[in-house]
Amino acid sequence: MHRIRTFLLDLDGTFYLGDKIFPWSLDFVDTVRSQGKNFIFVTNNSSRHGRYYVEKIRKMGVDISDDQVFTSGEATIYHLLKYNYPKKVFLMGTPDLEEEFQEAGFELTADEAELVVLGFDMTLTYEKLRTACDLLRKGIPFIATHPDINCPTPTGPIPDAGSMIALIKASTGLEPKIIGKPYPEMVEALRAKYGLEDPETVAMVGDRLYTDIAMGKAAGIKSILVLSGETQLSDLEGSTFQPDFVVDNLGSIAERIRS
Ligand SMILES: [Mg+2]
Repeated sequence: MHRIRTFLLDLDGTFYLGDKIFPWSLDFVDTVRSQGKNFIFVTNNSSRHGRYYVEKIRKMGVDISDDQVFTSGEATIYHLLKYNYPKKVFLMGTPDLEEEFQEAGFELTADEAELVVLGFDMTLTYEKLRTACDLLRKGIPFIATHPDINCPTPTGPIPDAGSMIALIKASTGLEPKIIGKPYPEMVEALRAKYGLEDPETVAMVGDRLYTDIAMGKAAGIKSILVLSGETQLSDLEGSTFQPDFVVDNLGSIAERIRS
């Protein structure tokens, strides 16, 4: 663990839970910084702008720079631009995601759309679903920002982009190309922005086996499972996604790299 220079950190269940920062997260940040190492927050939640998370984390008392948060929305935009997808997009997303797409030069349209993009759309309507299915039946490309079926909230799980993908698939028989964790497109976008050349010095840290740890494996980087979120030690048995390290929480990583 001492060799790791850059920690890619999941947010919910890893750094905080809902609106509460874990008590050991500050110690982790101080320790990582004092050792000249670096951390980047990597989240699949595309319902918010990266700036939202930067502000949220700052309010929790951790001063981070704007480029220390990377969302699946940003990764999707990178992917669409790099591979020359059409700029006329029917976007199923929140106003935050719409803003990100517009800032990146995409034109949001239903009538002239040449591409359908699905995010974690907390403003989803029947009208949007119907339009998306109509467009997809014409054969235009379909992209989703991330695969999560549910999003954890303090009051329990709520339907996330993966559930919307399932609904559209039930109607049209069509499935999107997906960008976020654990897919290699997410890592490609991260590499393009941050470098991260030597995979031995990069670790994905998270509480979910099938997104965080799976992405670490897919990317050939180190993976560290924290038990402060949804995964329990007993879930590891029989899982296809085995992390390089298992620790209680970020505080345990701080302890280890200090010693
Ligand atoms: Mg998590």
